[in-house]
Amino acid sequence: MEKLSQLYEGKAKKVYATEDPDLLIVSYKDDATAFNGLKKGTIAGKGVINNRMSNELMQMLEREGVPTHFVSQLSERDTLVRRVSIVPLEVIIRNISAGSFAKNYGVEEGIVFASPTIEFSYKNDALGDPLLNEYHALALGLATKEEIEDIKRYAFRVNDVLKRFWLSCGVTLVDFKLEFGRTADGKIILADEISPDTCRLWDTATGTKLDKDRFRRDLGGVEEAYSEIMGRLEKNLEVTK
Ligand code: UDP
Repeated sequence: MEKLSQLYEGKAKKVYATEDPDLLIVSYKDDATAFNGLKKGTIAGKGVINNRMSNELMQMLEREGVPTHFVSQLSERDTLVRRVSIVPLEVIIRNISAGSFAKNYGVEEGIVFASPTIEFSYKNDALGDPLLNEYHALALGLATKEEIEDIKRYAFRVNDVLKRFWLSCGVTLVDFKLEFGRTADGKIILADEISPDTCRLWDTATGTKLDKDRFRRDLGGVEEAYSEIMGRLEKNLEVTK
């Protein structure tokens, strides 16, 4: 399958048409942004890592009953995916307080929740991705009630599967963001990516951050953290397959 015209260029990926109208190619870049595009930079090798990590995790999720857009990895940076129309919601699951949760509610980072939280924000850069609840999403016509139910069920299932997997790697899954899409036949499937760009991952033993917070917060060792987390994943994939 070959790349035809470029359909879209996002912050971290480019999307291309293919000869099959139901399939697209996503190509992962090393570009990194934070704070709604205000902070820009490059993380060398990130595209290769995020492509491989996202594909491995999506295949794991498929085996565990979560439908995803993944079709096949084409090269280090390119992956064939099912074409969907993206539901304009960022779906965030949290196991431990961090980031905007800690800021918004005035608590420290690192509080372990008795059960995970879910929140939605409206995927709209011009508005700064405002938080909304499912009634707002319904009122705005962003998704139907049934779609929101599917999204919630899948999102918590993703959390169960990934939390367990990362734990086996000595990594704590703090929080993450998912995006879902609608297929041509109206099914909800997991889309976008699952990577250190979209998850908070802390070394369980030391608490060291192994994710994009190193870039956001200028903590240094960004590339090293991405390769460390990728190495952990590689080592433990065999165990779960
Ligand atoms: N996240 C993301 N894209 C966004 C916003 C958040 O991938 O546009 C991820 C982020 O990496 C973290 C989780 O969602 O794992 C929760 O992020 P939070 O709401 O705390 O926002 P942040 O502090 O990153 O602004």
